[in-house]
Amino acid sequence: MAADALDDGAVYDEARAWYEANWDPAMPVGRWWQTLADSGWGLSWWPNDRFGRGLSHHQSSIADRARRDAGAFGPPNGIGVTLVAPTIFHHGPERLLDRFLPSIASGEALWCQLFSEPAAGSDLAAVATSATRDGDTWIINGQKVWTSGGHLADWAVLMARTDATVPKHRGISFFIIDLHQPGVDVRPLRDMTGDSEFNEVFLTDAVVHHEDLIGELNDGWRAAMTMLSVERDLDAVGHDGGGDVINDVDLSRPAGEVQYEQAHGTESSGFSYSTGSRKDEVTMALVSDTVATDAVVRDAAVGAYMERQVLDWNGARQVNASAVKFQNAELCRRLRDLGFAGGGMATQLGRADQPDGGHFLKSALFAQGMAIAGGTDEIQRNIVGERVLGLPKEPTPTAPTAPA
Ligand SMILES: Cc1cc2nc3c(=O)[nH]c(=O)nc-3n(C[C@H](O)[C@H](O)[C@H](O)COP(=O)(O)OP(=O)(O)OC[C@H]3O[C@@H](n4cnc5c(N)ncnc54)[C@H](O)[C@@H]3O)c2cc1C
Repeated sequence: MAADALDDGAVYDEARAWYEANWDPAMPVGRWWQTLADSGWGLSWWPNDRFGRGLSHHQSSIADRARRDAGAFGPPNGIGVTLVAPTIFHHGPERLLDRFLPSIASGEALWCQLFSEPAAGSDLAAVATSATRDGDTWIINGQKVWTSGGHLADWAVLMARTDATVPKHRGISFFIIDLHQPGVDVRPLRDMTGDSEFNEVFLTDAVVHHEDLIGELNDGWRAAMTMLSVERDLDAVGHDGGGDVINDVDLSRPAGEVQYEQAHGTESSGFSYSTGSRKDEVTMALVSDTVATDAVVRDAAVGAYMERQVLDWNGARQVNASAVKFQNAELCRRLRDLGFAGGGMATQLGRADQPDGGHFLKSALFAQGMAIAGGTDEIQRNIVGERVLGLPKEPTPTAPTAPA
């Protein structure tokens, strides 16, 4: 019977049995990820014939719970798994799936997202990076910024202007670009957590192949919007692709060892935004003593717990992506404030001094970033107001909608 025809309990049982039979902490990470890819359980929300099982987000989170209960390490993670693959599933072409999916599913290739520019963030349609046709290739010139994981990535999805003569949303195309080439200069930026997880990327006569176009020429806006909507959905539930890591893991190391380091926050390098419910667990553990004696902290802890329950429910059922992304940003801020209010001096110490490896402090400092990345809170409010509630469009300097 196909897994997508199973009820929730049967999905759990089948996944759990598979993990119990196959998980081996001594197996090198690369082999474990390949085993997961071949089974379809690791990326169970991908299609049946493409390293997945075609499960809904709701059922894939059940399969993922079975994995955690079996103590098994998760599949590879990051933008390739969570954003690039779903966007190509939606917009094609098939040849890009054939070419890129195997190395994404096995964790061999890391990806990043070249959308934002110094003058194109919320107003993403203003992207100025140009793509000029040269036979079967396109020559790319421009600057991107805030590129998460750009310093680790092998490939990127790129928004570039292929026609400057049409209205701005219409002249954009969506390409795959190889980052290992002379025209690409990646310069890390340091954020307030002290890490350098995002970058500036300068593109000077970089080359993209026409066959690496996602969707149609000059229709990149639609593909980019698909990707942003997937991102908001996943951000919203703190979804981490079912996995534990977004790092450039050494694939030859024992999976159990890497899993331990990830779980205890002792990994020495890499790219690991505080995703998923781990930040909840860490924060709740920090305040567990104070909760017993301080009614205000107890109230805040219950509030954060309730918000997580609602968020997970909304996310799993794919309620409006902007609304749940906004709710996730709010939960991140709540957990930050809760930890600082009830966690005492432990929350103020340097990261190396922390029993949790500094996970709380990093999440807390990073909390405001969740309200910006993938579209700011204000933009999510606009989307919900205009597209869900049907409010009038907000006036812009170039196209006023209010009567004169
Ligand atoms: C942690 C993190 C990771 C990121 N990773 C990536 C990445 O991998 N790839 C990538 O391409 N980008 C990435 N970004 C960039 C992110 O997408 C942009 O920062 C975001 O879209 C906002 O754009 P901006 O910074 O240019 O701010 P602006 O668009 O200049 O906005 C500034 C302020 O004005 C407000 N504002 C703007 N327009 C409106 C409006 N119409 N109505 C109301 N308020 C408005 C905004 O809400 C914000 O408060 C990342 C950002 C962060 C924080």
